[in-house]
Amino acid sequence: MSTYGIDLGTTYSCIARLDANGNPEVIRNNEDNSNTLASVVFFENENNVIVGQAAKENIETDGNRVVQFVKREIGKADGRTYDFDGKSYTPVEISALILARLKNIVESQGGTIDNVVITVPAYFGLEERSATKQAGELAGLNVLSLINEPTAAALSYCARQFQEDRTILVYDLGGGTFDVTVIKMSMTPNDQSGDVQKITVLATGGDDKLGGKDWDDRLFNYILTACCDENGLTTEEIEAETRQDIRSKVEEAKRKLSQKETTKVRIDVNGERTEVVITRKDFERLTADKVGQTMNFVESTLEKVPDVQIDTVLLVGGSTYMPMIKKAVEEKFPGKVQQHDPDQAVAKGAAIYASMLGVSVEGVSSDTVDSEKKSDGEPVEDKRAELAAKFTVEDQTPRSFGPGVVDTKGNKNTYILENFIKIGEKMPAVASRTYYPIEDNQERVRLRAFENMSTEDALIPSVDEEGNPQPTDPAHGVKLLGELVVNLPPNTPKTTKIEVTFKVDASGVHVEAVNTATGDKFETFLRTASDIDIDKSAVHQLRISSD
Ligand code: ADP
Ligand code: MG
Repeated sequence: MSTYGIDLGTTYSCIARLDANGNPEVIRNNEDNSNTLASVVFFENENNVIVGQAAKENIETDGNRVVQFVKREIGKADGRTYDFDGKSYTPVEISALILARLKNIVESQGGTIDNVVITVPAYFGLEERSATKQAGELAGLNVLSLINEPTAAALSYCARQFQEDRTILVYDLGGGTFDVTVIKMSMTPNDQSGDVQKITVLATGGDDKLGGKDWDDRLFNYILTACCDENGLTTEEIEAETRQDIRSKVEEAKRKLSQKETTKVRIDVNGERTEVVITRKDFERLTADKVGQTMNFVESTLEKVPDVQIDTVLLVGGSTYMPMIKKAVEEKFPGKVQQHDPDQAVAKGAAIYASMLGVSVEGVSSDTVDSEKKSDGEPVEDKRAELAAKFTVEDQTPRSFGPGVVDTKGNKNTYILENFIKIGEKMPAVASRTYYPIEDNQERVRLRAFENMSTEDALIPSVDEEGNPQPTDPAHGVKLLGELVVNLPPNTPKTTKIEVTFKVDASGVHVEAVNTATGDKFETFLRTASDIDIDKSAVHQLRISSD
């Protein structure tokens, strides 16, 4: 069996597949005695790169050779790299090392792995998505598709508890990020297989800098202070080894407090053995504001869909093991909260989705599970075909898309981004509009394609001192994706209609421009932004009106 689902997480990753009975199962990371793999990479020396728990042990003592939270950097425009031993690694390459380690976990247990589905946050833009796919390919995996993390979590939940039309709020508190997603599951008639469950994302919110790490940091400081008090030292007098000792025990202590009311940590404080007792009550007091922050994001996400009634709340992410989280969410949604293997649900959902795609791509009988049978002799594929027939995942545009053009009508001579494909539209999404050259005899047009997070029809991008639009604008998530050069024949009047079409699907953005006077067609396919020189002259652009 060779089809797997991968949750490539900010702090922990996880890999799953469907077992012989068609139930999702996680492939255990035996080396770390865990169901997950720490998404941490330690460049020990030129010849040795370590991924996982062992890499984590070096954060305090050898931090400049450790890479963590790389998911925050993947597909970002600034193109940062990590340099070790004369080699330079991109976030895609670091992510590929983590994925290769997951592949290795499967192979070391005798499995083979070919096809995978990798999960991404619902808010990932085009470039983050294609960078994630690239990382998979670099790790030697065939990436069938990507799926949004909350959708995968909902899929794994619904596969175990099939229900009719439901609105689900996914509360995902991981190690470094907090994501809230409102998902709609609805029954839609399907000719071939009766009714199918359609999964649609209605709203997303959260904070990519809020997660279990904040709880760790609070606990770290608490233990550090206790160690200082006990030994009459200031925090500056604490040695790096002691800090690492605390750091490596903090997470374990936190996990223990999810089970027990009290835990003890023994720290070697500059050579002196010191014992610190922490109660769950103390820990909850130390971090109560963080819980409050997550609930504020829940509120603000719900405000985006005011007419929606939440039926079920799914707790996802390892940090939801903390009793304080369940308590807070249950208080807000009494009787509606569900939690099943929160640190594995996303990978399991991805495994289900991967198998669904495997069924539809390869055909039921030709899939590679053929040798495995259920105990009663029924072939596994039946169950997978059943799953595939039961769900459809509606892919939605993760961003709004459109060209940058000059508005000569309403906003005289303002450069604006016209969003003719909006965030949340069903993919593939296609839209066209007609524009005109800025002036007579214009030789060419540089048509810029942007993505952004605004739901407005048009957006004015931020500009530099000279008034030139900037390729990125974090406030609205504006990012220049690429440019299409449209050459115009001599003596083209400014009344010439140029028809511009954007088509967005899961693989990227297709941009097309047709000179309706000549029929000349120009097109480009944008997957990742290359380095684009912003051309500053307005005459190379298009304008909205013909007057
Ligand atoms: P990611 O953020 O990469 O999606 P996870 O969803 O696996 O990763 O969440 C990882 C976070 O969950 C870490 O901060 C980890 O310490 C925390 N965590 C895992 N298990 C527990 C537990 N039993 N109690 C408290 N926190 C936990
Ligand atoms: Mg996660």
